[in-house]
Amino acid sequence: MFRRILIANRGEIAVRIVRCCREMGIESVVIYSKADEGSLPVMLAGGSFCIGPAKSSESYLKKETILEAARRLGCDAIHPGVGFLSENADFAQLCEEQGICFIGPSSDVIRKMGDKQSARKLMMQNGVPVVPGSAGLVRSAEEAREEAGKIGYPVMIKASAGGGGKGIRKVWSENDMERAFDAAAAEAEAAFGNDDLYLEKLIINPHHVEIQILADHLGNIIHLGERDCSVQKNNQKILEEAPSPFLNESLRAEMGECSVRAAKAAGYNSAGTVEFVVDANRRFYFIEMNTRIQVEHPVTEEITGIDLIREQIRIAAGMQLNYRQEDISIYKHAIECRINAGTTGEISALHFPSGFGVRTESYLFTGYNVTPFYDSLLAKIIVSGRSRLEAVRRMRRALEELVIQGVETNADLMHLVTFHPDFIKGKYDTGFWEKNHEELESWMKEGLKEI
Ligand code: ADP
Ligand code: ADP
Ligand code: MG
Repeated sequence: MFRRILIANRGEIAVRIVRCCREMGIESVVIYSKADEGSLPVMLAGGSFCIGPAKSSESYLKKETILEAARRLGCDAIHPGVGFLSENADFAQLCEEQGICFIGPSSDVIRKMGDKQSARKLMMQNGVPVVPGSAGLVRSAEEAREEAGKIGYPVMIKASAGGGGKGIRKVWSENDMERAFDAAAAEAEAAFGNDDLYLEKLIINPHHVEIQILADHLGNIIHLGERDCSVQKNNQKILEEAPSPFLNESLRAEMGECSVRAAKAAGYNSAGTVEFVVDANRRFYFIEMNTRIQVEHPVTEEITGIDLIREQIRIAAGMQLNYRQEDISIYKHAIECRINAGTTGEISALHFPSGFGVRTESYLFTGYNVTPFYDSLLAKIIVSGRSRLEAVRRMRRALEELVIQGVETNADLMHLVTFHPDFIKGKYDTGFWEKNHEELESWMKEGLKEI
């Protein structure tokens, strides 16, 4: 097992990893930017190291500097967290070359699966259904129009290097192609330094259902069921739950089996997620694999009782999976709400909900200054219960207890989501936000007097 892990991330995920290391008896060292001096992960970790100025391109994305720090600080492994370098094959390769373990799959697996367009090809070769789309990359708006003509409108332009909902555009007709193409290319270039684009048939308001995978270096692969992440704003997840209210037992088994097949095809060896869209007829299509731990991983932890970060670290250390497929039983329902900052500023008052079935993952404290430099995620509120209804009611009371003062957040809006009839019934898809946000916002204005 590792002696000391360098955590190449910040915020709530860095805190989550520090805590896990401590429970495993592993020392942790966290890197931080000037803007994160005095942040919670820095205070909690066994050691810390300032890596550069606030700008992530000069700090959290500095591959060589991070590796140099890991060497100097005597770390034998690096946990990349989420975002930043977590899906960067070049960084994983540098780690391999320099004999420091990258906690994630090997660089060639990331290369195969991190690029969405090549992942699609690999999936097709292995009998995993993918969304119909362009044969390869589309290099110009002209070429995109040609390909879209074959696929049939509406289509979706997607960035091959994409993540976090960036570089994605819906295109309803030929006339919209040029503008959408240019916008997606510019957004992808800015976010990923790569403007490779491809096309997929736009599935109208699908469900986003993803399968959590664990695979070790000894050839054992299991899945831990699904998460439904269909409550999305601009293709970004804001609420996740498991099990999915949309799946039945046979579809669950089929998608699980399919994901294991996908992971096998990729030679996968870490924690990972296979993402699908599922249409109204319950036909499912692979969209991408995330070769890292995901923001919403606690939802699966709550329903299975398995610590995914711990398993991810054990796998990276070459150990065998602690569980077989038949050991996995899902006995609870869990929901996560992402609490995002709408403004920056100092946290003047803070109270996190707790009590039976409630978990908070956050890095906030009173007096902490929320800066504009990074992802806006402030906290994740996760609840679990014996039934979906119990979990929904628990989420309401958890959000009612939550106090974050000093910055604007989406907490009240998320609270209202849990009162929306479509959500209560579990009858929602990725069109939920577009369909309902105006109504929810009008509830916000009026207050929820009647409930
Ligand atoms: P996906 O959209 O692929 O499902 P997730 O929602 O799991 O991915 O989270 C990935 C996103 O998390 C990144 O694209 C980034 O916007 C954001 N992110 C990056 N770093 C952090 C961090 N330290 N804490 C929280 N979120 C982060
Ligand atoms: P990212 O890497 O940004 O997470 P994804 O490929 O996972 O990108 O897509 C993000 C979201 O966009 C999905 O969760 C889904 O809501 C929507 N989406 C992706 N592909 C399609 C598609 N072909 N049709 C309809 N919606 C899609
Ligand atoms: Mg995705």
